[in-house]
Amino acid sequence: MPLFGALEAGGTKMVCAVGNAQGKILDRVSIPTRTPEETMPGLLNYFRGKDLAAIGIGCFGPIDLDRRSPGYGTIMSSPKLSWRNFAILRRFQEELDLPVGIDTDVNAAALGEAVWGCTREVSNSIYITVGTGVGLGVIINGRPYHGMIHPEGGHIFMDRRPDDPMVRGVCPYHPNCLEGLASGPAIERRWGRKAEELADCTAVWEMEAYYMAQAICSYIMMISPERIILGGGVMHQEQMLPLVRREVHRQLRGYIQGKGLDDLDNYIVPVSLGDNQGVMGAVKLAMDAYAENGGAL
Ligand code: ADP
Ligand code: ZN
Repeated sequence: MPLFGALEAGGTKMVCAVGNAQGKILDRVSIPTRTPEETMPGLLNYFRGKDLAAIGIGCFGPIDLDRRSPGYGTIMSSPKLSWRNFAILRRFQEELDLPVGIDTDVNAAALGEAVWGCTREVSNSIYITVGTGVGLGVIINGRPYHGMIHPEGGHIFMDRRPDDPMVRGVCPYHPNCLEGLASGPAIERRWGRKAEELADCTAVWEMEAYYMAQAICSYIMMISPERIILGGGVMHQEQMLPLVRREVHRQLRGYIQGKGLDDLDNYIVPVSLGDNQGVMGAVKLAMDAYAENGGAL
C-alpha cells in the first residue's frame, strides 16, 4: 500500500508526516520554521528514504496556485520575508523526484475535514482558522476552491463595532479587515493582554464573536456553505462557539431560513480531527498528485 508524505508549512513550525490512503498518520515530527536555506534541508531529509509515492504540501500563503503560471507553487507576498518568492513546490519536486501537490494551509485543513472529518457528508464547506492570522479554506463540490489564486477570507473588510476601543486593526495592509480586528494578535493589542489570559472577560469574547459572526454571515451569503468549521488557537476558548452561533443568528436577521441555519449547533462546528486536519489534508493532496501521475490507489 503506497505511503504519502505530508507537510503542513506554517509561519512558526513545519509539521512533517507520513500517512496512508485511509488518512491514517503513521509518523509526525515538527521542525521550527527559519529561513528556507536553514529549514529546507531538514524537511527534505525527513522525506528522503521513506519510499513515498508522493508528497502533499499545505502552505502559508498567499501562494500562486494557478497551474498554468510559471510561478505555480511559489509563495507570494508573505510577511515571512525570507520565504517571499520561494518556489517551494518546484524545490520539493526537483530534490525528491516525486509527484507533489500543494494548496494553502487552510484549504488543506478544510480538505482533511472534508475527506475524513466533520464535513465528509457535505460537498460544500468552509474552514475558518483564527490564530496568529485568520484564514479561510473553501471546499466546493468536494474540491478546494482556488479561482485566481485562492480565497483570502481573513482580509475581508468589516463594519467596526462602534464601541471597539482599538483605533486601527493589526493588519499592515488594511485598517479594518477581519484578521486585523479578530486575530489573536488583534485581541492582544485591543485588550493589552494575550488572548489566552482573557478567558474571564466577557467583553473580549463578545467583541470577538461580533466580528467572527459578521464574517461568517458574509461567507454564508457568498458561498452558501453546507457546514462551517471553526479552528485555530483562539477557538480554544470554549465560550466562543455558542457566542458566535448566537451572533450569527442575530446578524442574519432571519433572511435565510431553514436548511442548516435552523440548527446552528450542527452548522457551525469545531474541528473534528484534533491537530491532524492539516497533515491529513496534505496526505489527500499527495494522493491526488499520485493519481494524476498515473499512480493506482
Ligand atoms: P498559528 O496561527 O501561529 O498557527 P495558533 O492557531 O495557536 O497558531 O494561534 C496563535 C494565536 O492564538 C495567538 O495569538 C494566541 O494568543 C492565540 N491563542 C492560542 N491559544 C489560545 C487560547 N487557549 N485562548 C485564546 N487564544 C489563544
Ligand atoms: Zn488585512
